[in-house]
Amino acid sequence: MAAPPAREPGFSTRAIHAGQEPDPTTGAVMTPIYQTSTYAQEALGRNKGYEYARTHNRTRAALEANLAALEGGRHGLCFASGLAAANTLVMTLSAGDHVVAGNNLYGGTYRLFEKVLRRLGLAFTFVNATDVKAIEAALTAATRLVVVETPTNPMMQLTDIAAVAALTRPRGIKLVVDNTFMTPFFQRPLALGADVVLHSVTKYLNGHSDMVGGALVTSDDRLAEALRYLQNAAGAVPGPMDCWLALRGTKTLAVRMERHERNARALAEHLARHPRVSHTHYPGLPSHPQHELARRQASGFGGMISFVPGDGSLEAGRCVFDRFRLFTRAESLGGVESLVCHPASMTHASVPREDRLAIGFADGLLRLSVGIEDLEDLALDLDQALQSL
Ligand SMILES: *Cc1c(COP(=O)(O)O)cnc(C)c1O
Repeated sequence: MAAPPAREPGFSTRAIHAGQEPDPTTGAVMTPIYQTSTYAQEALGRNKGYEYARTHNRTRAALEANLAALEGGRHGLCFASGLAAANTLVMTLSAGDHVVAGNNLYGGTYRLFEKVLRRLGLAFTFVNATDVKAIEAALTAATRLVVVETPTNPMMQLTDIAAVAALTRPRGIKLVVDNTFMTPFFQRPLALGADVVLHSVTKYLNGHSDMVGGALVTSDDRLAEALRYLQNAAGAVPGPMDCWLALRGTKTLAVRMERHERNARALAEHLARHPRVSHTHYPGLPSHPQHELARRQASGFGGMISFVPGDGSLEAGRCVFDRFRLFTRAESLGGVESLVCHPASMTHASVPREDRLAIGFADGLLRLSVGIEDLEDLALDLDQALQSL
C-alpha cells in the first residue's frame, strides 16, 4: 500500500516541536540553556562544529529553527533585540543605497534609520504605507529595501503586503515586513510575497515580558548567508537564557494569540459602542477603513487596540489613563498581562505634534495591549476608568 501523503505539521505542532529534538547527549526533552562562551577542541583543527558562542549556540539555533518554521521560511536568525535585528538587516546595504519605509514605523526603528544610519550614508524616504502608489512613487534606481509594519502602532493602519511585493519583486528590491503585532499565528508575510520578516521577539513571541530579543526570517538563501555573516561579524547576538525563555514562549503562542484576540475583539466592540469614546482603532471592526484587507491578508486581528477617550484632549487621555487598576501603565506589548500606554508622551514622544494630528493621532489617544486575563475583569476596569470622564 502507498504511504499516506506527508502532511506538513500544523502551526501549534511546529510551535512546540520545530527546532527542538531531544538533546543528543542526555535526551533532555527541553533544549538546554547552553550557557558557555567556548567549546573544547579535540585536536588542532578538529572540533564538533562549535568554536565560539557568538558564532554558534545550540539554544539560539533551536529558537532560530523554531521561528523559521512558524513563519514558513528557510532561515531564521536571532538577535539581541528587535532593533539589533533591524540594524543587522540594514548592514547588508552600502553607502548610497536607498530605503523606502512606512511613515508610521515603530519609533525606535525610525530613530535608527533617521538619526543613526542616515549619518553613515544611507538614504531613507518615509511614505504613507497604506498607499501602495505612494510606495511606488518613492522607489528609485538606488532603492534596495522597502520596510513596512502592518498593522502600525498606534493607528492600526495596514499595508497590502501582496500588492507591495508585486512592485518590489520584479525590481529586485527586498520587501521587509515587521510582523511583531500579528505574529505568524495570524499573518505570514513570506507567503504573501515578502522577502524578510522582522520581529521584536520581546513582544508576543516570547509573550511574558521577561526578555528582550529580535529575529529575522527569510527564504532567500543569499540574503540569509549575508545575514549569518553579519550576525557573527557585527555580533548583536542574544544570550542563551533569553533564547530559552523565547522558546518556552513560542510553545504557547497559538493558545495565547487566540485568547488575546478573543479579548481584544470583545473590548474593541465594547469601546466602539461606548458613549465616552470618540474613536476606536482595531482592524477587526467593520468600521476600520481597511477591514477587508485585514480579513484578506491575515487570519485574525490581533490583540492591540487604540482608542480616543472623550474629546481626544490630553486631559481626557490623562484622566482615563491614570484611573486604570488592572491594566498596567507601561510601554511594550504582547505579554500575558494587559497594558495601557499613552503613546503621545511615551512610545511616540519624539514624533512632532502636527505629524501626529495629521494622521488622526489625538493627544489623548490610548493604546491597549490586551492580555489573556478574564474578559469580564478587563471590561470592568475599562468601564471604571472611562467613568472618570
Ligand atoms: C518593540 C518593537 C520593535 C523593537 O524591538 P526591541 O525588541 O524593543 O528592540 C520593533 N518593531 C515593533 C513593531 C515593536 O513593537
